[in-house]
Amino acid sequence: MPAPAHQKPVFRFAPSPNGLLHLGHALSALINQQMAEVADGRLLLRIEDIDLTRCTPEFEAAVYRDLEWIGFRWEQPVRRQSEQLDLYRSALGRLDDMGLIYPAFLTRGEVKERVALAEREGRIWPRDPDGAPLYPADDRSRTHQERQDLLERGLKHALRLDMQKALTLLDAGLTWHETGDGERGTIHADPAAWGDVILSRSDAPSSYHLSVVVDDAAQGVTHVVRGMDLFHATFVHRLLQVLLGLPQPVYHHHRLITGPDGRKLSKSEGATGIAALREAGHSPQDLRHLLGL
Ligand code: GLU
Repeated sequence: MPAPAHQKPVFRFAPSPNGLLHLGHALSALINQQMAEVADGRLLLRIEDIDLTRCTPEFEAAVYRDLEWIGFRWEQPVRRQSEQLDLYRSALGRLDDMGLIYPAFLTRGEVKERVALAEREGRIWPRDPDGAPLYPADDRSRTHQERQDLLERGLKHALRLDMQKALTLLDAGLTWHETGDGERGTIHADPAAWGDVILSRSDAPSSYHLSVVVDDAAQGVTHVVRGMDLFHATFVHRLLQVLLGLPQPVYHHHRLITGPDGRKLSKSEGATGIAALREAGHSPQDLRHLLGL
């Protein structure tokens, strides 16, 4: 007898409608679908549209069109992150109550200057797993009064996680269970590698890290299946799950499709776009073949 819906494994594909989907997205969607089928699980689609400046209704419509064309079938209703802002705000509030959040005022340019100055002096500035410089410590050590003054002056700011403080709240090392195409088994998460990550900005009320973790829990996702490019992001996701008392899914980071230059595809790469392939007369079957499925 099949398991009742509430006991089934739950998978999700979670694209951001800030460009057209390409072969890399097709691979991710179809691997999710295959794994859900094998596990007799549910398959959800989540639209990650918190970045209101880059996500558009046209790109969202294209997501549905392209996914339908490749034969991806998902449950209704679709969750849209732009409709869940209260949930992210409340998670942010909980982290704030734990004293783990601070307003960060340095602009991108100011951070760049600091890094350039340090490097001119021969110091090595630490970088995150994606290669971006870690956020300087200045704002973390401001007094309460200083922060208040800056906030009252209406200075634009982001909210960042005080990573060192967050790590002191853990009773044990952070790990996850990985079943993907790279390292497998128990993986040790090192969230400190990311420094004080952004949890919300002045133009987006929640960050990717915060909303993905809150949504995976709210939707009962048991299996997070996504590209290897997000492997290290799982360090932060595991930390947020523990801090917020959320369940831990199994993670499966799959191979990436690379362009002719060996780099992962980007949304601006027209030739590998799903719509471009369709318009060039290819069939969904050709696409699966291209993907090695
Ligand atoms: N929205 C993310 C992206 O399009 C994927 C998030 C995830 O699978 O965790 O890259």
